[in-house]
Amino acid sequence: MSAAERRVDVEGVAVSPDHLIGGRRVGSPTTFETRSPTDWSRVLAEVARGDADTADAAVSAAVEGFAVWSTLTAEERAAHLHRLADLIEARNDDIAIVETLDMGFLHESMKERLVARGATNFRLYADLARHHEERSWEARGADHVVQRMPAGPAVVITPWNAPFMLETWKVAPALAAGNSVVLKPAEWSPLSASLLADLTVEAGFPPGVFNLVQGIGEEVGAALVADPRVRRITFTGSPETARHIGRAAADNIVPFTAELGGKGPLVVFADADLEAAAKMAAAQYDDSGQVCLAGTRLLVEESIREPFLELFHRHVDAHVPGDPRDPATTMAPLVHPDHLARVEAFVERARAAGDRVVRGGHRIGELHYAPTLIEPASNASEIVQNEVFGPVLTFQTFADEDEAVGLANSTRYGLSAIVFTTSRSRAERVGRAIRAGIVWANTFLVRDLTAPFGGCGISGIGREGGDHALEFHSDLKTLIIAGGTTVDDRS
Ligand code: NAD
Repeated sequence: MSAAERRVDVEGVAVSPDHLIGGRRVGSPTTFETRSPTDWSRVLAEVARGDADTADAAVSAAVEGFAVWSTLTAEERAAHLHRLADLIEARNDDIAIVETLDMGFLHESMKERLVARGATNFRLYADLARHHEERSWEARGADHVVQRMPAGPAVVITPWNAPFMLETWKVAPALAAGNSVVLKPAEWSPLSASLLADLTVEAGFPPGVFNLVQGIGEEVGAALVADPRVRRITFTGSPETARHIGRAAADNIVPFTAELGGKGPLVVFADADLEAAAKMAAAQYDDSGQVCLAGTRLLVEESIREPFLELFHRHVDAHVPGDPRDPATTMAPLVHPDHLARVEAFVERARAAGDRVVRGGHRIGELHYAPTLIEPASNASEIVQNEVFGPVLTFQTFADEDEAVGLANSTRYGLSAIVFTTSRSRAERVGRAIRAGIVWANTFLVRDLTAPFGGCGISGIGREGGDHALEFHSDLKTLIIAGGTTVDDRS
């Protein structure tokens, strides 16, 4: 790192607001501000605003990095990834405070859950890639060997919610499979990615293996995904952006995965543990609903409507919106004033359309939107059909299992679902009938990371998790060697 390198102080942590390209920090002629959701007047950093030249330089560096990285053995790459995980663990507190200030999620959960997951992501993929076996067999008088080839430079584009966790979740399999990476984080929460970039340098990654580019999606993001030297694109964000990226991927015939929004149902049957179900429903407001997997459509069996609502309201009343650094706070602020305005506009449109606002429906101070429950006029209402990505749940009732499944499957999304029932057979039946990438029964967010993860419908294309992400980042080759080779000089 050069002595002249720019660093900004974020609560005692020195963060570079610049790109990392080819192992060096590089600025841009223009910048953009990142502000804190804890206080929107607080500018945390003037971040380098990458352009087409930045994208070109980053992909060039990634091509060079790939030439080195792809020739290492899986074990050598795994050693780097474990070193990186060690460094993330050692810097957990720094990463967590920067992330909390930049993005706004509750600090305790950042430390214990989201940043710690970053280290786990690298360890998981280091170990999986080492044990990713090649298949070989003999057929038709010839040896067949299936080889996994690293695909090439990968572009990783991520959203503003839970940035560190999602970035590491996507970067780890790319690196483990032998690809180099250009990461472009979201412009509303760009800073923790810069700490990750520092740690790749400290962990001794060869230059160009991991590159970080900061900037606006439509500018540098679009330039990155349009570069024909890029051989994989992996994206998490909204369906709208996925359509743009998908067009660029199609132009260059590049595989891409898209982890997109959700409108998950939270289905409560009359036989459920009502207390647990109501508590879980109220917990969907914790991060102000800025969670793709959130169960935002409450579907409750008609016969338990009143007891469920009573328990639900009691849990929601206990929520404490506040500063995410305060351990007493249970409800995070919204990430950005534009996002708060977007959430508010959704609720206003719902009101105007005749949906009934049962609770909330207003701001709390400058940073929060009240936990809001809406009983829609019909299942076709916009508030039921589109992702709000804020603290807004809808409430509908059903008469029987068939109606519950019908309602659960009635949006274009299909990311996740939560079901509450004490019947094992119903959990299986309903779980199998729901069209979603993941269905939880009587729990939420618990998941072995080797399980497939992704969405149906407009919630996404492809699957992450375990070997699925490693397969995505590899090109398979079938090598066939006939008996004509007479000299066995392999030893
Ligand atoms: P977004 O689509 O607006 O932006 C995501 C990223 O794409 C950002 O880095 C942005 O700069 C970049 N981008 C924007 N336009 C681009 C373009 N033309 N070319 C290349 N890159 C471009 O999404 P967001 O508002 O940051 O995130 C919220 C969305 O992400 C929600 O829909 C949420 O459900 C979804 N999400 C999904 C998952 C999942 O795992 N399925 C996880 C978290 C968030």
